[in-house]
Amino acid sequence: MANFTDDQLAQLKTAMQKRYLELQEGIRRELEHANSGRSIDLGESLSNIPDDIDTALVDRQIIEMRELEMSLKYLMELEVGDCIDCGNEIGFDRLLAYPSAQRCIECQQRYEKAYPHESPPTL
Ligand SMILES: [Zn+2]
Repeated sequence: MANFTDDQLAQLKTAMQKRYLELQEGIRRELEHANSGRSIDLGESLSNIPDDIDTALVDRQIIEMRELEMSLKYLMELEVGDCIDCGNEIGFDRLLAYPSAQRCIECQQRYEKAYPHESPPTL
């Protein structure tokens, strides 16, 4: 894995959790709006989204939350920071700016060219 200091790992974890909560709140608001004020309790997990709710509106956020869940898991296992395509370091600054990043910039650009419709928002 990339050689992060404890301090950097703590910063990344905070950034990931913050982004995760932002996404969770955004999804909750979108779903409530889409369901005319019906209260949605997402609780701690995406699996709490009721089956009868149209999640197309929030698919992008849900994908990013899943990526973040994976990144947080890697972080706990101290495997965060390596590109899933080439295995090189993603880089601390890139991870901090984009906590769900799973590829280095080179591989991300290649991936976005190959799958333009799946590209995540650029920060
Ligand atoms: Zn790479």
